[in-house]
Amino acid sequence: MSQIVVIGSCGVDFTTYAPRLPKPGETLIGNKFTTSYGGKGANQCVAAAKLGGKTSMICRLGNDQWGDKYRDNLEQVGVDTTHVKITPNVTTGIAQISVAESGENQIVIVPGANSYLSIEDVKNSADLITNADVVIGQLETPFETTLEAFKLAKGLKLLNAAPARSGIKEILPYCSILCVNEPEASLLTNTEFEIKNAVAILKQLLETGCESVIITLGPEGAVYISKIDQQPVHVFCERVNAIDTTGAGDAFVGALATYLVTYKDKPMHQIIGAACQVATMSVTKEGTQTSYPRKFDAFKKEY
Ligand code: ADP
Repeated sequence: MSQIVVIGSCGVDFTTYAPRLPKPGETLIGNKFTTSYGGKGANQCVAAAKLGGKTSMICRLGNDQWGDKYRDNLEQVGVDTTHVKITPNVTTGIAQISVAESGENQIVIVPGANSYLSIEDVKNSADLITNADVVIGQLETPFETTLEAFKLAKGLKLLNAAPARSGIKEILPYCSILCVNEPEASLLTNTEFEIKNAVAILKQLLETGCESVIITLGPEGAVYISKIDQQPVHVFCERVNAIDTTGAGDAFVGALATYLVTYKDKPMHQIIGAACQVATMSVTKEGTQTSYPRKFDAFKKEY
């Protein structure tokens, strides 16, 4: 049985790079094109697996040319794909991304098979979910499906409430850890996040019923609070030259899960410090899943 079960999205990112973004109706000649594997759920699962976590993914792929390729991509890093379902007559989730030299971008996402991840899929994976040490969910697949999985899970339930959206109150009392970035924390609390009001925001999020809250702060690391002692902690990360921060939050979530199950006796601030180190390493390389590090001794350092 897998220790870490991720229920969530898979997507293929098609990215074009051009001097500027096209105007409506305009055709532009670009200078670079990349295809990469993404989707928050799969990113988190791959991040956990690359660090040595025993992982399983519950997701939907389309029956187009990308479905099988995506499954192979997951298997190559050791993810168990028994519960990866290829869905007939639907496309695999994709994102079409245009990037201008200024760094500005335009993105069209077609969720495709991700929208078909159902409560029935959760029921079919009930054994896997109930026996997992950690179940991870996000908000790129149907909310009711993630909610059902969290209701079933007996281990830790880690919700990465991303992308930012409201209307998720019902799931928060089931969460062992709610993990969000600054814009997501702002949206959930209706308060503009600033470091000086971090403690108030952490406490406000704790009042939603979850057992603990982590807010990741990009280059400033992360803050954490737990219902047990209500003592906020700020864990800092290393200063690095960031090249590509895409998927940093997903690296953090995946690493957090692996370290939670591997180092059950370590205090939470050390687990968070190690997860920050993984996410920070990922921003020093281009790409998302390809930028996540393989197993290394994250606890050589003191946090
Ligand atoms: P998201 O990708 O969800 O917006 P964040 O930007 O908060 O999440 O980043 C998550 C983690 O990635 C941070 O806690 C930090 O460890 C690392 N990180 C992100 N950006 C940087 C950066 N510029 N320098 C160093 N570490 C970073």
